[in-house]
Parts: sequence; C-alpha cells; structure tokens
Amino acid sequence: MKKPVNRRFIAGAVCPACQKMDKLVMYREEGRLVRTCVCCGFEESLDTGTAPSNNASQTTIVTDRQN
Ligand SMILES: [Zn+2]
Repeated sequence: MKKPVNRRFIAGAVCPACQKMDKLVMYREEGRLVRTCVCCGFEESLDTGTAPSNNASQTTIVTDRQN
C-alpha cells in the first residue's frame, strides 16, 4: 500500500499563478520543500539547504535594563 504524501495546506497563502487563496499545499520531497497549487498545478521547490540568516535578528534579546 502506497503511503500518501503528507501535504499541508498553507493558510492564507495566495497562489502566484492563479491568485487563489488557500489552494497552496506544501510537502517534503527528497529533503526539499515543494509548494504546489491544487487549483492550477503551479509548482515551486524551495531550497532548504541554507538557513535564513535574517532569523537571527528576530531572536535577539535586548537587555537594556538598568538596575
Ligand atoms: Zn494556482
């Protein structure tokens, strides 16, 4: 029995091809993320090889407290 690919709908995402909302699903294939539209068949693979560096600035804790 073939196991179905674990697809996950992206809430609020708009398809760049057909402009429809909540039609994009994301799933993992061979270590990479693939984003596809169930409405028009748009498909895009997202490279996950490099971690986004701008995440570091979001987790910066400002310790500007004076005791
Ligand atoms: Zn689409």
